[in-house]
Amino acid sequence: MRIAGIRIVIDPTWLFVFALVVWSLATGYFPAADASITGAEAWTLGAVAGVLLFASVLVHELSHALLARRAGIPVPRIRLFLFGGVSEMAAEPHNPRSEFRIAVAGPLTSISLAALFWGLQRTALPSLVPGGPLVVEYLATINLALGIFNLVPGFPLDGGRILRAWLWWRRRDLLSATRTAGRAGSVVGYALMGLGLVSLIKGATLGGMWMILIGMFLNQAAGSSYQTALLKDLLSGVRVRERMTREVIAVPAHASLEELVNDYFYRHPHGSFPVSWGDGRLAGMVSLEQVKSVPRDDWVRMPVRQVMTPAEGVCALDPEEDCFAALEKMIRCDAGRLPVVDSGEIVGILSRRDVMKLFQVRSGLGA
Ligand SMILES: [Zn+2]
Repeated sequence: MRIAGIRIVIDPTWLFVFALVVWSLATGYFPAADASITGAEAWTLGAVAGVLLFASVLVHELSHALLARRAGIPVPRIRLFLFGGVSEMAAEPHNPRSEFRIAVAGPLTSISLAALFWGLQRTALPSLVPGGPLVVEYLATINLALGIFNLVPGFPLDGGRILRAWLWWRRRDLLSATRTAGRAGSVVGYALMGLGLVSLIKGATLGGMWMILIGMFLNQAAGSSYQTALLKDLLSGVRVRERMTREVIAVPAHASLEELVNDYFYRHPHGSFPVSWGDGRLAGMVSLEQVKSVPRDDWVRMPVRQVMTPAEGVCALDPEEDCFAALEKMIRCDAGRLPVVDSGEIVGILSRRDVMKLFQVRSGLGA
């Protein structure tokens, strides 16, 4: 679905955690709070509370997304997955102030929701529905817990982003701020794994395993956020034209698939080639997969232009683009190399290997 122009996507892993939450509410939490709640009633309450819990998570994420958008960062989608929700921002915040605002919005929203449910519980409204007060109380508690947990200062939790914004503002250095906030995130990850292990030993199997999983996830996410920041730091500012290969092996659009296979795919270790009109303009890209989709008997007479991806649909690079943006584009387009095009003409080609070589050299130099 779409809310305020943002696509809301549900990952298959979310179904698992949703079922887990409903199950634990229906068989544990609600019967423990009120022994008269059993069977169908417990499952209904569990499902209602589960849906409202994830609606609360969604509101939390929407608050991040709307503030990001106000700071000029598009948020194409929010994903609900195994460990909750994530707003997928198209870029990092431009300055510490936006980072702080975007980060703090989430926990403040969750704590406000907790206050709202707590206020609702003081009224007579919830008791109009059987089990209503219990559900409202649960939502007040869980939203407060969500707000507080997210304030823990370890990246990529919201608290870690707040910490990073503060360090970034003080040091005026995003990379070093990310490194410190990421290390704090690893500490939080290990602490959760440790707590999970203790719970496991004490007999709380499910809760313990869950904490260990979240700890592992945080640890991994903290590490990769630093890697990304480092990559960006080292690759930004280097133009595509400085690293691209200028001697491009391009296939003429009129060549047959037979010629394409014999003279290009057999001779050069590439999975795809740019296709050119005779005058150097880019006609498209052709890959081995596209050739394979044509029966062998047709290879002799079928021209490359008939199976290629035409230029309009090709991911191409601009010579003035920086290498980090180029790498992002390669990942987004799932391509090992991309043609560099200047006013319709092929001027070079850049591969992931070229970019990674640059990364190795610059990180080796401590640039
Ligand atoms: Zn958040």
